[in-house]
Amino acid sequence: RAKAQLAQHVCFYEPGMDELVRKRRNVATELRKALDTGQLSIHYQVQTSVATGGILGYEALVRWLHPVRGAVPPAEFIPIAEESGLILQLGEWVLRQACAAAATWDSPCKVAVNLSPMQFSQVSLLALLKAVLEETGLAPTRLELELTESTIFMDRKHALELLADIKALGVSIALDDFGTGYSSLDILRSFSFDRIKIDASFVQDAESDLQTFSVIRAVLSLGKSLNIPVMAEGIETPSQFSMLKEAGCDEFQGFLLGRPLPLEHIVQSGQMGLVSRAV
Ligand code: C2E
Ligand code: MG
Ligand code: MG
Ligand code: MG
Repeated sequence: RAKAQLAQHVCFYEPGMDELVRKRRNVATELRKALDTGQLSIHYQVQTSVATGGILGYEALVRWLHPVRGAVPPAEFIPIAEESGLILQLGEWVLRQACAAAATWDSPCKVAVNLSPMQFSQVSLLALLKAVLEETGLAPTRLELELTESTIFMDRKHALELLADIKALGVSIALDDFGTGYSSLDILRSFSFDRIKIDASFVQDAESDLQTFSVIRAVLSLGKSLNIPVMAEGIETPSQFSMLKEAGCDEFQGFLLGRPLPLEHIVQSGQMGLVSRAV
C-alpha cells in the first residue's frame, strides 16, 4: 500500500519536476544572454546610522529587466545563477560595477555587495577583490561584503580563513539575514564580523509578536557585548523604526529610509552624504 502510494507520488511529481528543471534551464540560458546584452543593472539602497545621523553606505542589489518578462526578482534568478555557475560571472560584474560607482561618489560612504556561497568557495575570490579594488581605485575600507550564515556553513574552515584574508585587505564583512540560518551563535564566536544584519522577517513580526521582539532585543544586546553594530533590515514603517530604535538598534535599512534606486537617481537626489529625512 505504502509502495503504491509512493509510486503514485513519483508519477504525480515527475512531470512537474521535469517542467521545473526545464524552466530553470531556460532562465539560466536567458540570464546568460542578459549578462551579455546589458539587461542587468544595479540599484543602490541606503543604509543609515542614527548615532552619526548619516549615511553609512549603499547596498548594491542586482536588477534584471527582461525584454519580455519585465523585471525578474533576484529571489527568482539568484538561486538559478548559483546552481548554473553563472553567479561567478554575475557576481564579478556586480562587484566591479559597484566598486567603480562608489569610487566616483563625493561621500566616502561604503558600498555593500552581496556574495553568494559559490563565489565564496571560488579559489580566486581574494585575487578578484584585490584586482577590482586596484582597477577601480576604491579604498578597501569602503567595500563591505554581505554574506549569509549558509555561506560560511558550507565549508567552515575555508570560510574562516578566507574571511580573515579579506579582512586583512581592509574590506569589511557583514553577516546578512541574521537569524534565518542554522548556526548563528557558533559563527559569531568564530569570527569577528563588522556588522550583523537582522533579517527583515524579524522586523516584520516585531510589532505583532512579543517573542520575536524579545529575540531582536537579545540580538541587539549580543551585538553590544560583542561590540558589533547591528543593522535592522526591511524597515517599512515609522513605528517599526521607533520600536527598533528604542530597543537600542542604531543602524537601519528599508523602504522607509530609501528604496533601492538606480545610481543616477541617488546622485541626482543629493541623498549622498546627507541625513535621510526619515531619521
Ligand atoms: P538581501 O541581501 O537581504 O537584500 C535586501 C532585500 O530586501 C532586497 O531585495 C531589498 O530590495 C529588500 N528590501 C529592502 N528594504 C525593504 C523593505 O523595507 N521591505 C521589503 N519588503 N523589502 C526590502 P532584492 O533586491 O529583491 O534582493 C533579494 C536578495 O537577492 C538579497 O537579499 C540578496 O540575498 C540577493 N541579491 C540581490 N542582489 C544580489 C547580488 O548582486 N549578488 C548576490 N549574490 N545576491 C544578490
Ligand atoms: Mg544583503
Ligand atoms: Mg538581508
Ligand atoms: Mg537575503
